[in-house]
Amino acid sequence: MQKLLEGLNKFKENDFETHKELFEELREAQNPHTLFIGCSDSRLDPNLITQTLPGELFVVRNIANIVPPYRKSQEYLSTTSAIEYAVKVLKIQHIVVCGHSNCGGCRSLYLPDEILSTIPHTKKWLELAVPVKNKVLADVIEEKGKREWMTEQINILEQMKNLLTYPFIQEKYTEKTLSIYGWYYMIETGEVYIYNKQNGLFELSN
Ligand SMILES: [Zn+2]
Repeated sequence: MQKLLEGLNKFKENDFETHKELFEELREAQNPHTLFIGCSDSRLDPNLITQTLPGELFVVRNIANIVPPYRKSQEYLSTTSAIEYAVKVLKIQHIVVCGHSNCGGCRSLYLPDEILSTIPHTKKWLELAVPVKNKVLADVIEEKGKREWMTEQINILEQMKNLLTYPFIQEKYTEKTLSIYGWYYMIETGEVYIYNKQNGLFELSN
């Protein structure tokens, strides 16, 4: 905790001072251009990798960067409400679904039930990614590493598809006022591979 408290002081003395005017501008309202949906993984930092400042990204993070399919519900829907707010109220213009290498959430899809049953809420949440697992298992993949990155990348595409089940996203996407991107972040190299809808490949950003 000491480290965090020292960080607060350093922030106030350095970064806050540097961007003082920006923080004053942001006092009244935010006007982010992008909804960033990423994994909760501590190794992914949306603002750091995109070099963005406060006020630019509206961020939703959860285990395995999942977008639950649209549904009407009386439950407390964290991810769904954040997406709704970003699109309908903040009127963001872009959505990025950002998965990453070595994702523990994606790996957990293959854990045996005796382990998953000790983390029942995580197990339940990951049910949303079972279609991803099924797609990966439809191919016979011997190599564990390949299965991992395939799961991580197919997961990104699946969540991009799920975004289109939201009527207000589908509408804006069709009228081209909202764009959707799939990113795959490599933790060990800092590289981001961006999904190319034309050829179906994740390509290194430049
Ligand atoms: Zn992850």
